[in-house]
Amino acid sequence: MKSDFDDQVSAFINKRLLTQLKAILATSKASIVIDFKDIDEFSPELGDFIIKTPLDAMDTIKYFINELGPAYKELNLEVRLKNLPKTRHIKIREIRSKHIGKLVQVTGLIKLAVSVKPTASKISFECQSCGHAIDIVQTERVIKQPVICTNCGKKGRFKIISKEFIDTQRINLEESPEDLEGGEQPEHVNIILKGDLVDPKFERSIIPGNKVTISGIINEEPVVYPSGKKARISEISIDASYLEAVEQGFEEMIITKEEELAIKEMAKDKLIYTKFRESMAPNIYGYDYIKDSIVLQLFGGVRKVSAEANSTKRGDVHILLVGDPGVAKSDMLKYVSGIAPKARYVTGMGSSGAGLTATIIKDDASKSYILEAGAMPLTNLGLLCIDEIDKMNKDDRVALHEGLEQQTISISKANIHSTLSAQTSVLAAANPKLSRFNMFEPVATQIDLPPTLINRFDLIFILKDRPNPEIDKMIASRILESNKDINKNKPAIETKLLKKYVAYAKQNCKPILSSDAISVINDFYLKLRQQHSTENEELKPIPISPRQLNAVIRLAEASAKVRLSEYVTVEDAKRAIDLTMAYLGEVGVDKSTGELDIDRVISGIPSSKRNVILRVKSIITSELNAMPSGGMISINKIYEDALNENITEDSVNQAIDTLKREGDIFEPRQGFLKLVG
Ligand code: ADP
Ligand code: MG
Repeated sequence: MKSDFDDQVSAFINKRLLTQLKAILATSKASIVIDFKDIDEFSPELGDFIIKTPLDAMDTIKYFINELGPAYKELNLEVRLKNLPKTRHIKIREIRSKHIGKLVQVTGLIKLAVSVKPTASKISFECQSCGHAIDIVQTERVIKQPVICTNCGKKGRFKIISKEFIDTQRINLEESPEDLEGGEQPEHVNIILKGDLVDPKFERSIIPGNKVTISGIINEEPVVYPSGKKARISEISIDASYLEAVEQGFEEMIITKEEELAIKEMAKDKLIYTKFRESMAPNIYGYDYIKDSIVLQLFGGVRKVSAEANSTKRGDVHILLVGDPGVAKSDMLKYVSGIAPKARYVTGMGSSGAGLTATIIKDDASKSYILEAGAMPLTNLGLLCIDEIDKMNKDDRVALHEGLEQQTISISKANIHSTLSAQTSVLAAANPKLSRFNMFEPVATQIDLPPTLINRFDLIFILKDRPNPEIDKMIASRILESNKDINKNKPAIETKLLKKYVAYAKQNCKPILSSDAISVINDFYLKLRQQHSTENEELKPIPISPRQLNAVIRLAEASAKVRLSEYVTVEDAKRAIDLTMAYLGEVGVDKSTGELDIDRVISGIPSSKRNVILRVKSIITSELNAMPSGGMISINKIYEDALNENITEDSVNQAIDTLKREGDIFEPRQGFLKLVG
């Protein structure tokens, strides 16, 4: 226990740590946390020594602390290091074998946390031949046994007589979205937390989805085959020295004074909206409304939180693109995930298997159930592009409802009850069930998503692949151009600056509605609602619902943010209304009547069809009422009655199907119907 740095270590402890150490003695903590900055300030050489040979250095520091007196020896404090120098901050994907045994500092999101388990740190064995006791320090996954007795020299039988335990917890850390270059999938690393790092004080930070900075020593452990043999390849983990929760935000994005000035100058440009649009996937021709909407989505509305009412209103805008195959949906999503700050691209199937929301998995090593955060909580405060959202699994379908509206993901299963934060905007794409989209059918019946979920998107756009000589010419030339020179169509705003612009606006701008904007939005809403409030209420289509009103407000706020404006103006309100009408005009219009009907989005049944269903239902009820109770009615009789009202057999069949599906009627005998209940 002698090193060239003994004097320096001892001096550092006596000059810089005594006050802290005395305080620790009074509270009997288990560790002392040393800020690396203090060490470097005290002596850069000492700093170097610790960086070069951290294990030796930590032992030396511990030794000299214990030398301070018996009370310290008794406590045997763990030494923890925080704030390592910049040169030791690495990305998870950069970890290599050269880092083994070295100090590093990484930042990432907790993907999963296995529960705390006692782990044997030292085991005492007794030789069965001579009774001699042998202590072995345990550092590996499998228990290390003595080979021969150090006393009698015999090979063979040893009995465990005692164990010392240390609390350990394994967590898996994922790279956060801001560390990914456009489109990269995040890498992971295991972190081992020991001793007081798993105390309740830290436990609050160790929740999947949370962001943490960890300093520690890179450890390697050979992979163990089921036979017990060790493989040549090793798994890497970080033996954590210190863990700190990091507030999530856009702080990582460093915006210089000059950049801030440039951003403010750009915000005054009258053409700023066009410039942003022309920065959205310039290789893709057309789709101006969609690109405008995505621009507003990047900025988002204002999140409103009322602590008193314990309620929040999301500010994030969700957009769904539905369309024929090959209309550049995937291209659009990938592009946007590359330019938005904190964005990720995933497919509904969940490429890594973790899913979109959260999953409970069984941890093989500890035989316990653990919560694994999915893509949404791991993109908290960012933008998640979900391609082929219609292919997601059942659990995600359920949890996504809550994720989109309340922006939390709750899990309650196998003894795990947890709520993860997911303030994520979602840009999703879905393919129609039948290969092509039919404009005469409601959206909800054509994609494999429940209407309740579709309904949570603020804007839904349909992308059709219909031959049109003019547009085809433009698309062809755009594709040919970009094949000839992929950089031909440059975005109007350089991506690096665009990211910073958006991050700056999200951080600094919370526009409020001006009274003029309020009255414009109010008029728009009430006028559309009026279409509905005439006599025959049940049969009239509902043109718009309060959900769309909220969406318009969010979009108007986002539009103000693009200009870094403190107020939402009439122009912002109109821009939001235009986009909403563009979407409703496509998705919400009943093509057979030309009327706006939000039920086409919400329930999947247009009101013209609902009218038929209601009429067929009333035919069935009146026929049944005319009969003795418990009677049935033949379907042929309904065809006849319906024909008198000009309803075709086809429509009757469809209506019967719907009524059956919704549980109103059933078919006890082939060709006969009965009302339920
Ligand atoms: P989807 O996901 O909708 O099935 P993709 O994103 O895979 O379609 O697009 C298929 C290809 O067609 C892409 O290479 C894309 O560049 C091209 N493409 C389709 N529509 C356009 C367009 N409007 N402008 C430029 N390229 C387009
Ligand atoms: Mg696709």
